[in-house]
Amino acid sequence: MKPHVGVLALQGAFAEQIRAFRETGADPFEIRSVKDLARPLDALVLPGGESTVQGKLLHGTGLFSPLAERIAAGLPVFATCAGLILLAERLEDDPVVWFGVLPVTVRRNAYGRQLGSFATTGTVDGDVDVPMTFIRAPSIVSVGKGVEILSTFQGQPTGVRYRDITALAWHPELTDDRRIFQAFLAKSVKGQ
Ligand code: GLN
Repeated sequence: MKPHVGVLALQGAFAEQIRAFRETGADPFEIRSVKDLARPLDALVLPGGESTVQGKLLHGTGLFSPLAERIAAGLPVFATCAGLILLAERLEDDPVVWFGVLPVTVRRNAYGRQLGSFATTGTVDGDVDVPMTFIRAPSIVSVGKGVEILSTFQGQPTGVRYRDITALAWHPELTDDRRIFQAFLAKSVKGQ
């Protein structure tokens, strides 16, 4: 059976995540309201966008608490950029914490104005030459116990795996490389 992947579709790059997961053999669908949580859900995707806007919409729609409960219970999560910020235990220079389940400290908009948005390639969990698109990306300034570093840029971690959470500062869904999606489905998502 194809894994049921719910993609948070309140704001940001959710359409691209749906396309990427469909192309990787999953059955993705949009999560826009609490009603959508009645469907079978094997994994959650938190897309890039604006974390502050997404956080407010999560509370406004009533999705925050049920999703927080499922994530705490071990629901696999694939998060990019704003999604990484929503999962982080700590934001540097900012008292706000959203889901707070990923033991990392994140610096928002870490690459400054000049390097605000850029593309590069790198090694991700043993896969070489993976294209990475950064858009006003956060960086991960420190990681806690049990956090595996999947990718780095200029010596700073930009992708991590923790239990069944994969969180990236960059946007794999904006390229055609599907290896990180395949790895997430193979390693973290049951019901396949
Ligand atoms: N800078 C955005 C934020 O703070 C994240 C950017 C992105 O998701 N591409 O939420």
